[in-house]
Amino acid sequence: MSRQAGIERGLVLGRVRGLTVSVHWSVLVIVWLFAWSLAGTLPQTTPGYSRGAYWLAGLCGAVLLAVALLAHALAHAVVARRAGIPVPEVTLWLFGGIARLAGEARTPRDEFRMAAAGPALSLVLSGVFAAAATALATGGAGALAAAVLAWLAVANAVLAVFNLLPGAPLDGGRILRAYLWRRHGDPARAAIGAAQAGCVLGYVLIGLGLLQLLLASVIGGAIAAISTAGPADVPGRCRRFRCRR
Ligand SMILES: [Zn+2]
Repeated sequence: MSRQAGIERGLVLGRVRGLTVSVHWSVLVIVWLFAWSLAGTLPQTTPGYSRGAYWLAGLCGAVLLAVALLAHALAHAVVARRAGIPVPEVTLWLFGGIARLAGEARTPRDEFRMAAAGPALSLVLSGVFAAAATALATGGAGALAAAVLAWLAVANAVLAVFNLLPGAPLDGGRILRAYLWRRHGDPARAAIGAAQAGCVLGYVLIGLGLLQLLLASVIGGAIAAISTAGPADVPGRCRRFRCRR
């Protein structure tokens, strides 16, 4: 797997044992969108604060969510390196984190572990944010901080669930590939199966998006939100899958 075309490295945060962690300027777009969205909804859920406080809370929540997206990608990278696959770079950009892998999993088990690491970390983060929100809420102080933490808990859970949808190039697609590989013993055939599932999933999401336009429902809005936030990370994005018609 090679560099993903079209994404520059951006601001380098650090280098650890041959792994470069960087942030592309386009992250500012999602931070702004998350901050704007959060600052707009907090006054309804947690009234009684100034406009500036909502924006500050929104900005903090958005930056923390960006950090959580990076952590998700780093989880893929750490497990991949443990499986003996070099990972020269993890970059956070407009659509989340990308771990660039310089090799392939050697076994279905490695493929599964690499793919599951990101959603697993997002679920853990969701639990941590939920616990912190509960602690703050029951303490009676910092209702605004508790609301932001609760939002982060939901966002990370949505991120994990969306990425677990069973179609390449999402993490769930990699897990499906690991399953098919183990079952049939053919990694190439498994990749094609996961890619085909990804195509079906794509059409389903487009269908749901159209349904959302028709219904303008809350659920549809959530799907639109995760569609924007989700396509994220995924080691699988480094590989090009081709839809078959
Ligand atoms: Zn992932």
